[in-house]
Amino acid sequence: MSEDQLLTGELEPTNEWYAVAKIAGLKLCEAYRRQYGSDFISVMPTNLYGPGDNYHPDHSHVLPALIRRVHEAKHQGAPTVTVWGTGTPRREFLFVDDLADACVFVLEHYTGDSHLNVGSGEEVTIADAAKLIAEVIDYKGKLIFDASRPDGTPRKLLESSRLMEMGWRPRTSLLEGLKLTYSDFMTRFPKRALSRTAQTPSLYASK
Ligand code: GDP
Repeated sequence: MSEDQLLTGELEPTNEWYAVAKIAGLKLCEAYRRQYGSDFISVMPTNLYGPGDNYHPDHSHVLPALIRRVHEAKHQGAPTVTVWGTGTPRREFLFVDDLADACVFVLEHYTGDSHLNVGSGEEVTIADAAKLIAEVIDYKGKLIFDASRPDGTPRKLLESSRLMEMGWRPRTSLLEGLKLTYSDFMTRFPKRALSRTAQTPSLYASK
């Protein structure tokens, strides 16, 4: 999806409320620029992950959800881990420090009406992301795909060429980013919290 495609189609039904709030923010910046000449710019990030994420068992995004589930399976000696959906949807992920880097980059190199997409430009299937997580955690069990859970949209890829043409590139590969994220997970969640599940959401909620 390129910057020009914003508001050219239907909003994704499960994200509609969040999408409206986010688009309102972009439009507010644009309006300030037009009405008052304020040099406000906005960025539209792709799916983010990294240190400080939310590991709640029911309300987390896919990468932290799988990090937690695979980690718990490893420590409980469970032979399988369930991954939601078929594993075939493709997603683009960006390490959170790369987003911070992109924000500084655009502050220094860009001014203009349009928001800028910030993505890694690389897609992986959910199955491949899950395998990478198992590799990082050194989990030897099997991944089971539960097709009764929703897959969501088949692809979510931002067109980030405007930013890339200005010379910005993400620095962190998905493998490297997952290793950094898992180290952070290990420091944040001591062993005593490992086997707790939905009964102790506050232990896992993001601050
Ligand atoms: P989310 O914000 O990370 O939930 O993003 P999406 O809903 O766009 O995509 C998540 C994709 O990962 C979907 O295809 C899900 O079926 C799949 N998935 C696999 N396991 C999990 C999980 O434990 N939690 C979440 N949130 N998604 C999962």
